[in-house]
Amino acid sequence: KAALLEVRHLHTHFFTKSGTVKAVDDVSFSVKPGETLGIVGESGSGKSMTAMSILGLIPSPPGKIVSGEILFKGEDLLKKSEKEMRQIRGKEISMVFQDPMTSLNPVFTIEKQMVETIRAHEKVSKKQAFERSLDLLHLVGIPDVKKRIKMYPHEFSGGMRQRVMIAMALSCNPSLLIADEPTTALDVTIQAQILELFKKMQDELNMAIIMITHDLGVVAEVCDEVLVMYAGKAVEMTYTKQLFDNGKHPYTLGLMQSIPKITPNKEKLEVIEGLPPDLRRLPKGCHFAPRCKYVMERCLIEGPDMTKVSEHHTVRCLLYEKTKKAVKQ
Ligand code: SF4
Ligand code: MG
Repeated sequence: KAALLEVRHLHTHFFTKSGTVKAVDDVSFSVKPGETLGIVGESGSGKSMTAMSILGLIPSPPGKIVSGEILFKGEDLLKKSEKEMRQIRGKEISMVFQDPMTSLNPVFTIEKQMVETIRAHEKVSKKQAFERSLDLLHLVGIPDVKKRIKMYPHEFSGGMRQRVMIAMALSCNPSLLIADEPTTALDVTIQAQILELFKKMQDELNMAIIMITHDLGVVAEVCDEVLVMYAGKAVEMTYTKQLFDNGKHPYTLGLMQSIPKITPNKEKLEVIEGLPPDLRRLPKGCHFAPRCKYVMERCLIEGPDMTKVSEHHTVRCLLYEKTKKAVKQ
């Protein structure tokens, strides 16, 4: 299967008074139709900025995509005009955020917002748009849709509002959905229901999903493949199962230990010591070195490259870099 989205050596920088922030610093990956890629990392690791780069939403200035390619259906999105990108966003690629209120308008009913979204991208009658809205709300598990569609966003609970936003994101049959921490604000039960919903939608609609999260538990639940990011860089990429069975990067291993394990007597939560680095003052060599349990002298001098460790598994760490030859992703 050909890739739906292919990101190659993306670099997105922010030029601030106190220095250049390399928010995305050499990130490459691809997503095939119907697949879910997880992008995981702490806040500030560049996950959301990678998504914003794909969507053409990097605030410029101070931000700028300085190099790389973002091929969507074979065409480079970086060469599109803002007008072309507006058509692609919402229709071809849509997005779901942590806080539904950022994308729902509080003063309009769900009906009005959904019907207008659909009609902004497609030539369909109001009635057709309304029917499709009802179907989508039903698909995402909103009960009593005919009544609920007449309601305003504040009349829904947090979980229901997140479902409405997902229905809205699906309204133009996107081939790619980017979900940025879609369940972070929700309680555990609702979170599980929303993740179920993502899986169901994917089965039914064969859409590709990029799931951005700081939570490896979410990755385990829904993702086929995972990209781990640290300080703007891709540090590990492989299949989800491979990552959990045989994750390699010291940062990935730390993340895995920080998944809460609930045992009969205690709840254990190990966290990786130390803080993510200041992106304006990155340490020389490996950016993870100040927090790494396995740090070696050469890590303080040499920055590692993405290195292939097995089929479809790459890691950025000197422990795995036998020769100085990195794979071209
Ligand atoms: Fe740790 Fe060195 Fe690997 Fe960086 S390169 S993750 S410091 S072992
Ligand atoms: Mg974020």
